[in-house]
Amino acid sequence: MSQGPIPKSWISAIHAYVPGKSAGADGRPLIKLSANENPLGTSPAALAARSEAAETHRYPDPDSKALRAAIGEVHGIDPARLVMGTGSDELLNLAAQGYAGVGDEVLFSRYSFSVYDIAARRCGATPVIAPDLDFGTDVDALLALVSPTTRVVFVANPNNPTGSYLPASELARLHAGLPADVLLVIDQAYAEYVAPADDDGAFALAAAHGNVLVTRTFSKIFGLAGERVGWGTGAPGIVDTLNRIRGPFNVTNTAQAMALAAVGDRDFVTATREHNARERARFVASLEALGNHGLRPLPSEANFVLILFSGKLTAEMAYNGLAERGYITRWLPGQGLPQGLRITIGTAEQMDEIAAGLRDMAEAAR
Ligand code: PMP
Repeated sequence: MSQGPIPKSWISAIHAYVPGKSAGADGRPLIKLSANENPLGTSPAALAARSEAAETHRYPDPDSKALRAAIGEVHGIDPARLVMGTGSDELLNLAAQGYAGVGDEVLFSRYSFSVYDIAARRCGATPVIAPDLDFGTDVDALLALVSPTTRVVFVANPNNPTGSYLPASELARLHAGLPADVLLVIDQAYAEYVAPADDDGAFALAAAHGNVLVTRTFSKIFGLAGERVGWGTGAPGIVDTLNRIRGPFNVTNTAQAMALAAVGDRDFVTATREHNARERARFVASLEALGNHGLRPLPSEANFVLILFSGKLTAEMAYNGLAERGYITRWLPGQGLPQGLRITIGTAEQMDEIAAGLRDMAEAAR
């Protein structure tokens, strides 16, 4: 038999995305704090809208008109400047595909979202990885690596998996340092968790310049990860490019209906943000109270905390020990962080159990 079709060389080099696990090694269901989902569930308004979604034998509205209008109203953005995606993952991929290819470079930071690497490689472009600044985004390091073949720069704000956050002045400095023909993608999957007063200015950059795409998702604070809806905003030329190459029916009837209801449910967003801020602060304080066990929680503006381990208790031991206690978290050796464990902020009870588990393990490992 012949060997069959041969994938493009750059496709063979891709490491497929490894999602957060949802079960233990023996298949036992565990409480999942590995994928930064919403511990409060889904917006009740969105759940109520599910049954009213358009009939399943009909194709969805290819333009998600009602949903774009609602998003535009909430954020004061002209719906013509909004593009919808099957999760924001799709938009990140489309951004790379639309603007980069073989011979081009796609630039991002070390310890940023793993999809950037896949997005770059799948269109044949070369990923270029800038050093971090104490696990955050280093604007100078990114700018130093811009070359004549740089086509796209990805920055997540807040960043996953570190939780770090660039203030508006740094984001503006990054943008100002880029040539006008380089697309700056500002991935705001966790933006709603940031205190509202700390606007990073991403929407203003996207409104004022022709080379900025800001992406958002319904997967996190709106609790709709399973429905796969994300959106982006940028200049009409960018929106047009992404619309040309996206799937025509990329947001399902159910996803459109649920997201539309979720946009209007500001109470749920506020409740989730407040829960997250409270539990994140409590969790970090409980880790800091542990004393000198080598556990360093990085400051986070998102709905997770990355803990770096440098003592007798390793990240791998903590990961396995928490799994034994019924929790699946995200250990990150594949992302160059073998001593990093990312834990999604769960309910108060879950965070108490995790903190107690880490304390017991750290003391036992002493
Ligand atoms: N960007 C970042 C930084 C993320 O962490 C995630 C989710 N892991 C996404 C984008 C993609 O989310 P979704 O495709 O569910 O919108």
